[in-house]
Amino acid sequence: MAKKIVVIGSLNYDIILKIPRLPECGETLPADQAGFSAGGKGANQAVQAAKLGVETYMVGRVGKDAHGDALIESAQKYQVNTDYITRSEEVTGMGVVEALEDGSVFSCIVRGANFDVAKADIDRAEPVIREADLMILQMEIPQEINAYAIEKAEECGCRVLLNTAPSAPIEEEYLKKCAIIVANEVEAGFYLGENVDSVEKAIKGIKKLQNIYGNDIVITLGKEGSVVSDHGVVTFIPSRKVHAIETTGAGDSFIGGMGYALLKGESLTEACKFATGCSAITVSRMGAQDSMPTLQEVQNQ
Ligand code: ATP
Repeated sequence: MAKKIVVIGSLNYDIILKIPRLPECGETLPADQAGFSAGGKGANQAVQAAKLGVETYMVGRVGKDAHGDALIESAQKYQVNTDYITRSEEVTGMGVVEALEDGSVFSCIVRGANFDVAKADIDRAEPVIREADLMILQMEIPQEINAYAIEKAEECGCRVLLNTAPSAPIEEEYLKKCAIIVANEVEAGFYLGENVDSVEKAIKGIKKLQNIYGNDIVITLGKEGSVVSDHGVVTFIPSRKVHAIETTGAGDSFIGGMGYALLKGESLTEACKFATGCSAITVSRMGAQDSMPTLQEVQNQ
């Protein structure tokens, strides 16, 4: 039987504006370019795993609107199984992303239907969770649903990867049940209560987090790379030096790539090296799901 990933999380209709700088208060600034991109951390991570060839199931909610249609179509275009995406009375989740010329990105999200994800959705997906080798969660759906999903995964014998994005308080009990936690530098700083803006600080911080929660941890550091604690062995993995065009989805591509490599039986450290290659390609192209690489593209890198 093919190995499977189940992603439980958000789907967002993203509007991406390329702007030369942030507008001043009261100023209306023309954008250089505008576009739609199918997004949401959950959907992006599912698409990256599916593009690499993993049988991937998405569990989430969109509204009964045209944005919802577009998000389901995009996921299906990349072979994500959408049978467990439910249509909700709420509007489809949205993201407004302002991407500056220097590569920095500012975003706001509308939670919309993502916050309608319910325990019933997890129960409906139980047959898939039972067969899945990895459950991937983020934090763009209600926390109590994540907690319920973590318990369901435990009951079904499915390993959990939690991407703590965006950071919010989580009960330690649930964090400890996740086999792998992936945080970017801002999120790692939130849980540690201290700044994690360098490789040295990430190495120190990851050891502290590992001691508290006992699981495997990854801290991603944008263009610097990532630090991994794999069964207590800490390794720094530098990013690939590429010309970054747009970094939206870098972390999601990284997580989808990790999922693929973990299912192939790679260690967490090796999985992060593979994931580094995936996100290097993603940042060198425009968009999120569209810019994520296929397996062949990663292998030809
Ligand atoms: P996002 O929220 O935009 O999806 P994130 O904050 O979750 O991203 P990052 O830490 O920015 O995640 O990036 C994840 C990984 O992507 C990094 O560990 C690195 O390997 C790769 N990456 C990010 N930015 C760049 C870049 N400019 N050049 C090369 N690789 C990059």
